[in-house]
Order: sequence, then C-alpha cells, then structure tokens
Amino acid sequence: MPDILVIGSLNADLVVRASHFPQPGETISGEDLQVIPGGKGANQAVAAARLGASVAMLGRVGSDNFGDFLLDNLKSNNVDMQLVQRDDASTGTAIIVVDSSGQNSIVLSPGANGKVTSADVSHAPLPAGGLLLLQLEIPTPTVLSAAQRAKENNLRVILNPAPAKALPQELIALADFIIPNESELSLLTDLPVNDITSAETAAKQLIEHGAQNVIVTLGSNGALIVNKYTRTHVDAFKVSVVDTTAAGDAFIGGFASKLLDSASLLANRQERDLAIQKAVRYGCACGALATTKFGAQPSLPTKKEIENLFHT
Ligand code: ADP
Repeated sequence: MPDILVIGSLNADLVVRASHFPQPGETISGEDLQVIPGGKGANQAVAAARLGASVAMLGRVGSDNFGDFLLDNLKSNNVDMQLVQRDDASTGTAIIVVDSSGQNSIVLSPGANGKVTSADVSHAPLPAGGLLLLQLEIPTPTVLSAAQRAKENNLRVILNPAPAKALPQELIALADFIIPNESELSLLTDLPVNDITSAETAAKQLIEHGAQNVIVTLGSNGALIVNKYTRTHVDAFKVSVVDTTAAGDAFIGGFASKLLDSASLLANRQERDLAIQKAVRYGCACGALATTKFGAQPSLPTKKEIENLFHT
C-alpha cells in the first residue's frame, strides 16, 4: 500500500495564450492550444511521487479522451491510479486564457470531480501509518468523511483549503496540518492577511478554533508554522521566478514526502516541531523550484533537482 493517499481532483487544463482577454461578444485568435494535466489533487500526487514517495490517487474522471489522458499521466508519474473511477460526467476541465502580461483568466468545469462521494472513500484501502492529502476541488462532505475515516484509522491528515471556501468546524479540527496560502487563510478567518505578522494573527485564530498546526505559505516570503506552542518562520529560497503556478502544490507534495521520513509519533514535542520545520523547509525548496519553470505539472521538481538546490 502506498504511503500517501490523495483524495481530490483531476483536471485537463486547456490553455491558450492570447494578446488580451476577449470582451463579451468578441472573438479573438490565440496561439496553439496546450492540454496540460492539472487539478490540485493530481498535481499534489505527482509532486510527491516525483520526490520518490509512493502515492495513490482516489478521484473520478470521465469516460472520455481527457480521462484517458489524465490516467496515462498518473501512470507515467508512478502514481497508483486503481482508485480513480470513470464517471458518466465529463472529465474536469479548466479553460485558461493567458494574456501577454502573463495574467490568466480561468473557467473551471468540475465535471467528474463533483461526483466523488463519501461512498467512494468509505471502502478505499488506507495507507497504514501514512498520510492523507485533501484539497477542496471535490465536494466538501466527501472531504469531511475522508478526514473522519483517516482519523479513525490513525492516519495523519493534511488539508490544503484550496480553492478558498468556508469550512465546517469539524474538518478544521480533524486535520493535523492545514496549509493555506495568504488569500485562503484570509477567507477562512475573515481577517486581512498580507504579511508575516497578519498571517500569524489569522493562523492563531484558526488554532483557537481547533486547528492543530497551521502552515501558511507566503510566496516569496517563505512559510509560517503556527501551533499552540510555537511560531516559526521559514525563509523562501532565492530563485529566478518564471511562473508561480503550482508553487503551492509543489510545496504540499514536498512537505508531505518529507514528513513521511519522521515517525508518526515522535518521542516529544521538540522532536515533532523539528520534523515539521524540516518538512516545511523541504516544501519551500519544492515551491521555489516550481516557480522557475512554466506551467503546473511540468514545473514540479524531482528529488535530484531538490538535492542540487540544497547543495548550491
Ligand atoms: P500558492 O501557489 O498556493 O499561492 P505560494 O505562492 O504561497 O502558494 O507558494 C508556495 C511556496 O512556494 C511558498 O511557501 C514558497 O516557499 C515557494 N514560493 C512561491 N513563490 C516563490 C518565490 N517567488 N520565490 C521563492 N519561493 C517561492
């Protein structure tokens, strides 16, 4: 059984670059279509697998060509896809227009991702002593029942509350680690989050509401770890940024794969905090390298690339 189970979304990203965004009623010509595997669930699964972790994905794709494409992609990235079902609904797609300044505008069609149910989760084999990775691109009740089942089976749960939406209180308390970026944390807490200090204030509010560990990713400011006992800031790595897409997914894949190295129940709090800091630093390295290449999954780093970054 793999060490990491990801329960989440798989999308085909349909990307066209154009000089500008079309106005309502306007038709413009763009460059050639690129079809890129995406979806936060699949991105995080591939991110962890490229770093050498053994990963399985649970989700749904359509019985269409995009579904074949996404399954082939998981296979070629060594992600176990036996728990991905084919659905009557279309495969999830993101229609993405990128303008000449690099801004993007996206229409998401959840398709089969919206059909992942609690029943899908209830019989899935769970990675004993491993990790469950969750995001919010599948129905929230499914995410909640996955977290409940994981806790009943002593799995550690990592929740990436993206895309940003309000969460049931119970889900916040079930996750061992909640990993939002600044805008997601702001939505969860209804507080402004735009620097390290405001991130700490908002993260503490989540802790007061039952969260165990909050790790806020802060883009070029690195990441902040907050729990009941400590608050630790981890610097970002300095890199030449090309495109920040999927930096968060790379961070989470890296964090999860490094966390696996530490036993689930370390002897004491200091050891646990140190293991978390190491995993966050590794996640920061992965996030930084993902910004040095264009695209989502194509930019996710390999273990070798991370080792090179640590040795430069
Ligand atoms: P998201 O992609 O979800 O918005 P962030 O932008 O916070 O997430 O990025 C995730 C992580 O990737 C950050 O915690 C940081 O370690 C790394 N990262 C992101 N942008 C940069 C950057 N410009 N320079 C260095 N590291 C970065």
